[in-house]
Amino acid sequence: MRNDSRPVIGIPARSVVDTNNGFRYSGIPLTYSNAIERAGGAPILIPLHLSEETLQAIYSRIDALLLAGGVDVHPKEFGEDVEAFCGEIDTARDETELRVTRWALADGHPIFGICRGIQMLNVAAGGSLYQDIPAQLETEQNHSYRSGDPYNLRAHPVEFDPNSRVAKWLGVPTIDVNSLHHQALKNVAPGLRVIARSPDGIVEAVESEDERFLVGVQWHPELLEDDERFGRLFEAFVESAREFRANRA
Ligand code: MN
Repeated sequence: MRNDSRPVIGIPARSVVDTNNGFRYSGIPLTYSNAIERAGGAPILIPLHLSEETLQAIYSRIDALLLAGGVDVHPKEFGEDVEAFCGEIDTARDETELRVTRWALADGHPIFGICRGIQMLNVAAGGSLYQDIPAQLETEQNHSYRSGDPYNLRAHPVEFDPNSRVAKWLGVPTIDVNSLHHQALKNVAPGLRVIARSPDGIVEAVESEDERFLVGVQWHPELLEDDERFGRLFEAFVESAREFRANRA
């Protein structure tokens, strides 16, 4: 049986350890795979700790790449030492994501980055990050998750470039979003342009300078199902994966 109705969206995993027995897993939160499925895509997990050849075999079968949220990107990947205020790091995930993201950038695959994913997209394309917002930027705004708050809590507004594709998909020039990050984009990579900021000036979204689908958002649209506008980002992403597949077939 063969079913090609849905484009295949690769999602690199994170390292997970079962604290009961020490077994190591590659995992992705269901919120991401569910959001891709709702939008018409077929999510596929890309495990960590694979050889280059195996990773290429998986990569060659995906139509687009989703970079999910998670822990910090190792600062060595953008030429910095690890500062005391940098958070937890997952080097196996960094290695896998940097490889597939650079392949996807070179081959023109659609890429959608969420939270850590916008940061990974920026680093893979040659940009850099603030390792910790409170330590390195002057702002009164809390961008981090506070224990006990709901994950869909609207923490701050973002204001869009009205000419951006993301603003057109959302249908509004400004929108309130959740905020679960302590890092942020510093130098924005060539090929990406900033299309949204929070009132304190922090980069909240980027997209490609050309027509291809390269989109990164610093908030978590997969946790904002209560507002169908955020689902349109996933729909636009899956649609561009469908077009990418059709054009290379
Ligand atoms: Mn924020």
